[in-house]
Amino acid sequence: MPAVSLENVTKVYGEETVALDDISVHIPEGEFVVVLGPSGAGKSTLLRVLNGLTAPTEGEVRIGKDPVGGANSAVGMVFQMHYLIESMSAYRNALTGALGRTGYVRSLFSAYATEDKTAALEALDTVGLLSEAQQRAGSMSGGQKQRVGIARALVQNPDLLLADEPVASLDPKAASDVMGYMKSAAKERELTTIASLHQVNLAREFGDRFIGVRDGSVVFDGDRDALTMDA
Ligand code: ADP
Ligand code: ADP
Repeated sequence: MPAVSLENVTKVYGEETVALDDISVHIPEGEFVVVLGPSGAGKSTLLRVLNGLTAPTEGEVRIGKDPVGGANSAVGMVFQMHYLIESMSAYRNALTGALGRTGYVRSLFSAYATEDKTAALEALDTVGLLSEAQQRAGSMSGGQKQRVGIARALVQNPDLLLADEPVASLDPKAASDVMGYMKSAAKERELTTIASLHQVNLAREFGDRFIGVRDGSVVFDGDRDALTMDA
């Protein structure tokens, strides 16, 4: 059974903006997929229907055997704008990932379970930030902040990791570092990952599979051989 499947998914915003046009994609467990395409192609919409933030107009989206939004699937998300709380430490930011799993009760009483604390430290270790755990997020570099964002997503113990242009605001060196940490985290945890990128060179370096999107349609889907320079 594929880890992720979209079956004839269409998303229309308003009356006529067709952001996704009858897309069918099946992704096996553990694959690291890069979605490429120009601005407005539908990449963000594709990720949003996968995390349940946007309901498709037509079609079906499944994580494992569950429809998206079902109680049994967890989706971790990494954003272009990291959405960290800058006044809190890297550790406290990573811990907030546990809220996605367990709801608001713990946040109200700020009573994280020991297993959450362990998960936060392990996740920071995975992204190479264990010794920076107590550093304030606001004082970190752009690349470090994205790595904390990855750690926060890992703490959710997700079935699927989604990253929407996670390195778009970084310089090439930091972008490559962040992609490297994301890739190794995904491999270490056998985590199915879908990241949108607009840099073909980064895609080529880190992706297992490449899905090109243009005007809401899949224009290529395959391994490195499918990756054309006009992506
Ligand atoms: P990308 O991430 O590739 O830039 P998007 O998924 O953001 O593409 O956008 C695909 C199309 O849908 C674009 O034409 C965009 O303007 C439109 N769109 C995206 N989000 C919305 C929205 N919330 N309301 C209306 N139109 C939207
Ligand atoms: P991206 O290319 O990364 O998707 P955009 O600048 O296209 O970023 O979109 C930023 C936000 O604006 C998104 O939340 C998207 O849903 C929303 N948006 C994009 N296009 C439209 C639109 N035509 N109408 C309303 N909201 C839109």
